[in-house]
Amino acid sequence: MAVKVAFMQLSSCWGCHQSLLNAHLGLLPILPELDIVYWPAVVDFKIDSMKEREKGDVLVGFIEGVARTKEDTEHVKLMREKCQIIVAIGACACYGSVKGLANLYDPEDLIKRKFMEAESITDDDPKEPTENVPGFEDYIINVKDLIDVDVFIPGCPPRTENIVAAVSYLLTLAGEGPESLNKEGCVCDSCELFSEGCFLDKGELCYGPITAAGCDLMCPNDGDYCYGCFRPTAKPGEKAEQLKALIESIDLVDEEQAASLQHFLDLYLGVSNITNFYFRGDLLQRLAYEPDSFETKEIETENGSKLVLDVNPTGDNIMDEIIGAALFLLKDDPNFKFSSKTVCSHCDRDVADKVPVALKRDYEGLPNMEDCFLEQGYICLGPVTQAGCGTICPNKANAPCLGCYGAPPGIKEQGSKFISTLGSLTADRDLEEVMEMIKDPAGLFNRFTVADSTLGHKRHDTKIEEEE
Ligand code: SF4
Ligand code: SF4
Ligand code: SF4
Repeated sequence: MAVKVAFMQLSSCWGCHQSLLNAHLGLLPILPELDIVYWPAVVDFKIDSMKEREKGDVLVGFIEGVARTKEDTEHVKLMREKCQIIVAIGACACYGSVKGLANLYDPEDLIKRKFMEAESITDDDPKEPTENVPGFEDYIINVKDLIDVDVFIPGCPPRTENIVAAVSYLLTLAGEGPESLNKEGCVCDSCELFSEGCFLDKGELCYGPITAAGCDLMCPNDGDYCYGCFRPTAKPGEKAEQLKALIESIDLVDEEQAASLQHFLDLYLGVSNITNFYFRGDLLQRLAYEPDSFETKEIETENGSKLVLDVNPTGDNIMDEIIGAALFLLKDDPNFKFSSKTVCSHCDRDVADKVPVALKRDYEGLPNMEDCFLEQGYICLGPVTQAGCGTICPNKANAPCLGCYGAPPGIKEQGSKFISTLGSLTADRDLEEVMEMIKDPAGLFNRFTVADSTLGHKRHDTKIEEEE
């Protein structure tokens, strides 16, 4: 059955929707799976049709743009109410993007500039329009500060492939699974090692007892562990307690155990493995991006009480505690490897040490097509920007990366991280000379992320001053 999806456009340029439309025939494989109930950028739906829907009636809601107006804010909240999964699509919805730079100014100044001072105004007595306009918010509010967002697909705009991959992945989550899937049993039921030679009896991790039956490959029958790709069963097998005790007996994972747990969680939870696509419901991604967002809980084990992460992706106590224990072991462990590739990782240019010969402004000279921009003296945010775009600007456009995919996991603040990187790379230079080249630090280092940065906003500063 087709799943209901809705696309909402807030204050934005429409580029993210255009990027999706750019898929052209590439959309054909997924279109029959979609029942598009709201997409004003393409079809003349009315907002009332969304308002009239039941809560959670729509499976996936895509939001493009920022909350600049009060109407935007209302629409964000409406989407959260009506949609089960919310996807922030594009740099605006993820981080505020270029529009977020407006947060560095008072709204009164912005209104004056736009409606009364702009060079294009021809009216003799220009005024702020008051009729048929929704009213402005004091500053650009991040979508994620208004509502819980489940999925982030950054980019200005996101590459078409990123969006289609994300939609396809979300559809697999809504799907029924293969025909042979049998949640009433587990992989152990057809395992030839069940009575003799079971991996668990040898102290080796095999996830068959908690994995649904119906798999034709049956890795254990070929001497390999079951890693759970048939996903959770509704009826854990009798060896589930043994698996749980084995995981709970581990205090510190070694490299092999960490790889096993991670491989299991990847397959068992059906995570995306799409580098630039952050799905908060994907517990491994959340562990990489927001490790401290989890609660812990204490459970009793054969070896005394133990801490596990308090998660419930399956709703079954034993399976959830196995997952929680696996996540707890991986949290903060150096063996936990999560892709945190940057734009530099996919750059075709020659790199020696990234140390600039002399800093240049964008318009000075013409960069060559071979060498790293930083080494040529041009500011390139590749080292602090997450991969996903194909490094399109340095590789295809002879232009430095401006950072539109935001920071990779583990880096909280893209701009500050770049300032620190630049500080190291230019440590031998005269500070005044470096500062002279950086005319607009926020616009250069946080061009897409000001609204999501630690810089705050002007209105916030003004309020503090008023209170003092
Ligand atoms: S735990 Fe693995 S090896 Fe043991 S019986 Fe189950 S599937 Fe077979
Ligand atoms: S800094 Fe820019 S040009 Fe240099 S390797 Fe990274 S992405 Fe490529
Ligand atoms: S190279 Fe940088 S600025 Fe260009 S699309 Fe990729 S992330 Fe965005």
